[in-house]
Amino acid sequence: MLLTSIAGSLPKPEWLAEPEKLWPQWKQTGDSLRQAKADATLLWIKAQEDAGLDIIGDGEQARQHFVHGFLEQVEGIDFENKVKMGIRNNRYDAMVPQVVAKLRLKGRVHAMEAQLLRAHTTRKTKFTLPGPMTIVDTVADRFYGEGKEGRIQMAMAFAELLNQEALALQADGIDIIQFDEPAFNVYMEDAADWGVKALERAALGLTCTTAVHICYGYGIQANVDWKNTLGHEWRQYEKVFPALAKSSINQVSLECFHSHVPMDLIALLEGKDVMVGVIDVASDVIETAEEVADTIGKALQFVSKERLFPCTNCGLAPMSREVAWRKLQALAQGAALARQRL
Ligand SMILES: [Zn+2]
Repeated sequence: MLLTSIAGSLPKPEWLAEPEKLWPQWKQTGDSLRQAKADATLLWIKAQEDAGLDIIGDGEQARQHFVHGFLEQVEGIDFENKVKMGIRNNRYDAMVPQVVAKLRLKGRVHAMEAQLLRAHTTRKTKFTLPGPMTIVDTVADRFYGEGKEGRIQMAMAFAELLNQEALALQADGIDIIQFDEPAFNVYMEDAADWGVKALERAALGLTCTTAVHICYGYGIQANVDWKNTLGHEWRQYEKVFPALAKSSINQVSLECFHSHVPMDLIALLEGKDVMVGVIDVASDVIETAEEVADTIGKALQFVSKERLFPCTNCGLAPMSREVAWRKLQALAQGAALARQRL
């Protein structure tokens, strides 16, 4: 019980990509890049095991960004002519590619990392994909048309492609497939209205464990500034959790430690496994085992120990390797202490 895992991403070594950046440039090209991505993936599989985590991920070492890594393998997207777009309801600007034609997968997206992961750990594995609604919010549309109907159509089209890759990941032997939907915390009504449906379409037919990660974003300044406007209690989850509780998705990953999310919102997820964020990704201060165990203890008031999975609040990609490594250890040690307390 209290099986630990990371939300998804880990820092890239500086021989692979620019360190401590959300959209880093690769340091290699061609075959050297492919090899460097594989090497970094192996390195982090070992590091997660050494830290004592129970569920192991690929650390997203082979994708430049958690959304664009998937989009690069999609036909119908123009990566040559990126445009500046305000994303997450204009929280920050990003250079995003444009959807210009009917969407189709060019082939497998993450076969290399998933197969490496499966071959090099005997522990449970988790693999992350961006959720359809978050993709729609991280790409410019020149094909599906303005307004809500266009957005829903585009989300469903992406959901079909995600489903293809998710089924292939399952065939690779992945145990948990997690869709990342930070956009659920930004467009709460749309999320409850059609976001969860698109998510279920992406997970259609999967027999492995399915999960969704909903957070308040990476520890970058734009997100820190945004969080400062959200007031004393962050109740965004309250709008989406009831829809998720009714959905076919098995696990929900949420941000807790150092956030203003009222812990009792977890009770809205009855029947689901809950991945509780016990590690802050917006601070370089390393959590103590006591702090981690205390957060787990608070969450246990609202979810049973069989259904609680200690996790990081979000990905660790923009942090330094050293800090990330020590936070993985803190996660494992804190969960061990919580088990002792039980
Ligand atoms: Zn996140």
